[in-house]
Amino acid sequence: MPDTRVVILGGGPAGVGAAYQLRRHRKAEVVLLERGDHFGGNAGSFERAGQRLDYGSHRLHPASDPAILADVQRLLGDELLDRPRHGRIRLLGQWIHFPLKPVDLLLRLDKSFALGSLRDAVRKAVAKPDEGDTFASVLEANLGTTICEHFYFPYAVKLWGHEPAALSGIQARKRVSAGNFLKLIQKVLGQVPGLKKPGAGRFFYPRRGFGAISEAYAEAAREAGADLRTGWTMTRVESANGSGPPWRVTAEAGDRSETFEADHVWSTIPVTVLAKSLDPAPPAEVLEAAGRIGYRSMILIYARLGVDQFTEFDAHYFPGADTRITRMSEPKNYAALREPAGSTVLCAELPCQAGDEVWSMSDEELGELFARDVAGAGIPFPAPPVEVWTRRLPQAYPVYLMGYEEPFERLDRWVDGVPGVLSYGRQGLFAHDNTHHALAMAYRAVECLDGGEFDAAAWARHREEFARHVVED
Ligand SMILES: Cc1cc2nc3c(=O)[nH]c(=O)nc-3n(C[C@H](O)[C@H](O)[C@H](O)COP(=O)(O)OP(=O)(O)OC[C@H]3O[C@@H](n4cnc5c(N)ncnc54)[C@H](O)[C@@H]3O)c2cc1C
Repeated sequence: MPDTRVVILGGGPAGVGAAYQLRRHRKAEVVLLERGDHFGGNAGSFERAGQRLDYGSHRLHPASDPAILADVQRLLGDELLDRPRHGRIRLLGQWIHFPLKPVDLLLRLDKSFALGSLRDAVRKAVAKPDEGDTFASVLEANLGTTICEHFYFPYAVKLWGHEPAALSGIQARKRVSAGNFLKLIQKVLGQVPGLKKPGAGRFFYPRRGFGAISEAYAEAAREAGADLRTGWTMTRVESANGSGPPWRVTAEAGDRSETFEADHVWSTIPVTVLAKSLDPAPPAEVLEAAGRIGYRSMILIYARLGVDQFTEFDAHYFPGADTRITRMSEPKNYAALREPAGSTVLCAELPCQAGDEVWSMSDEELGELFARDVAGAGIPFPAPPVEVWTRRLPQAYPVYLMGYEEPFERLDRWVDGVPGVLSYGRQGLFAHDNTHHALAMAYRAVECLDGGEFDAAAWARHREEFARHVVED
């Protein structure tokens, strides 16, 4: 249907996935506007020090929809590697392999922690406590106090910046993939050879960094005729007739400004930003609701060391309150790269809030913080880093504070009712989703567009599927 015009806002997986599918199935003319200088959004990559680097640890999970996985495999060919997961968690002063392995747990797990966890499990089997509604109560009811106090609770405070009792139980149900003790045990046993499910303990990763997935979608969309632009920030979405399509989307690149006419505007940018850019503007109570939900930010600290390899592990997880960072990855190990020789870059993830005192720390201060944290965990840098630099993600994670559902639903309901405007993707649906989920949303949106008409009832059914997405770490 070449007369139908879709303008897509945002060039992360949700944006480029839709651009490709729309053109592949000849459903619409496509213009995609991406504010940044790359495709992939938070799931993108960039090049520095002779290496391709991601915005924090990213892996493509085998849980991906098989049709989407087949497309990714076809688009990337031999570049997509199937790799074993090989990480470690710092727990009560010990390193435990992640994914959890039975023998490793027996040998290394702090004995009082192991006994406490078992006691909790038995207690729960006798009388399961009420789940309640908070992150703290849901996890405590399902996993017991020991695992929560030593692992999930301090991790949650660092990750989301709030006490576990102030967070919604939905955060626990969506984010913690082993939702109860039995599942946790099943996961551990699932690592035993012979009991292993296909894909368990493995992940897919492109040789040239995670961003290669979105770049391949963008390139295929371009080849199929889409107009994809980086460096263009959407500033306004205005109805030509005062109530619905056609929409006029204005975007700016430096001192240039352009307006694009669209029958459909598909937005993958934060729904809070979209609401403020729409004309006609939302009612005051919707804008007020948009102000009551927010995203957690993250600083990525990159340290280049003058050695071939720092450790053999892909990622180190730091749940404890004794470190500020939550995770450190060594990108070379994700794709088993040996090049560049004599150099490896580490990436630390430091959650914070855009504008807070951490956000404004200098690279030098952040480098020192990184060095202190790893030294405290017993894995000091072998020598001071050759260089340190940072990248900042203003919207890394949606924060589900207790009661967030009410303002989010108010905002979501209003946006959903604006004719010709669709908000989806991780930022658009305020969802904690993985890349394969963002791609799945893009594919479903394209299925809903037929003959230029968007099937809102079918989309509503897909939204119910999206609500069941479980986030993989
Ligand atoms: C630290 C971290 C680790 C993660 N690890 C994994 C993992 O291992 N595996 C996994 O599958 N997922 C992982 N994720 C999640 C993954 O990054 C997201 O699922 C994915 O990026 C979502 O894609 P999206 O297109 O919905 O949103 P985004 O990637 O957020 O893309 C939105 C895009 O909109 C653009 N934009 C915003 N405002 C405007 C504007 N006004 N005009 C134009 N463009 C605009 C942004 O620049 C951005 O490119 C991780 C996320 C983080 C933060």
